[in-house]
Amino acid sequence: MNGVAETAYRGRFAPSPTGPLHFGSLVAAVGSYLDARAANGVWLLRMEDVDAPRAAPGAAQSILHTLARFGFVWDGEVAYQSRRTARYRAAFERLRLTGAVFPCACSRREVADSTLGADARWSTPRYPGTCRDGLPEGRAPRAWRMRVEPGLICFEDALQGRYCQDLAAEVGDFVVLRADGYFAYQLAVVVDDAEQGITHIVRGADLIASTPRQLCLQQRLGLPQPAYLHLPAAVDASGEKLSKQTRARAIDAMRPQTALTAALEFLGQQPPADLMETDLDNLWRWAIAHWQRDLLPRRRVAPAPTDY
Ligand code: GLU
Repeated sequence: MNGVAETAYRGRFAPSPTGPLHFGSLVAAVGSYLDARAANGVWLLRMEDVDAPRAAPGAAQSILHTLARFGFVWDGEVAYQSRRTARYRAAFERLRLTGAVFPCACSRREVADSTLGADARWSTPRYPGTCRDGLPEGRAPRAWRMRVEPGLICFEDALQGRYCQDLAAEVGDFVVLRADGYFAYQLAVVVDDAEQGITHIVRGADLIASTPRQLCLQQRLGLPQPAYLHLPAAVDASGEKLSKQTRARAIDAMRPQTALTAALEFLGQQPPADLMETDLDNLWRWAIAHWQRDLLPRRRVAPAPTDY
């Protein structure tokens, strides 16, 4: 898609431009970058602006600017999901023609009122199956959902170990085409990862519960399954996932060396004390040469530093 040469390792960083880069997304950027570069791999950037209503004006530019200022070097051109609707539609049509998806009349409120998922904080409520055998009398279709079957979907995460989910029990039939006409993140990410030839996905563990949905789509679409490594997600003192609002400004305004050293420490790497004083080239040279997966904390969440 962007003319990058074939290599054994193709990684990516895929921020959603809902605000400037924050500490949590910096950690995902650093982790995916170092894992790719330490393996002599390619590292691609993808702006996940498929959710156009949530995109903040100027956020994509601000993220790219911060990444460049922090010394990240990405391969090829940046991919924008907002320009790739035709690909998502083609994948959706394949699912529709095989009966893998069905139209649903339920509003978000109706689904939320019916039942809650295992982790209501970070995931959506479980869909109770209201429309899977046909729309109720007189109701118009709103969204399209992927039909899921009972049974565990499992994968081996390189850091978190084996992770399994019974989609039917925990998530239910999930949305692939939204009521507002936009394709859902789950479908877009699977189509893009396959098309960009991504072999390794390194991202925050706040997304680990999405992975079985993505595996389900990969299987139905006949797409390869990448290797996954879910890094600890940064949380604040009250255990809440960092939001773009709480940490964004701090990262933007900071000396790159200070923020990058904090991200390295968060990831269990052991930067020498003087790394903070060095120039960015040296910092990255050290970080790539000393990247050790073995040092990563095997946790789903970890507190973000408060003093960086
Ligand atoms: N766009 C997602 C986010 O910013 C990340 C998606 C992914 O890495 O698969 O949370």
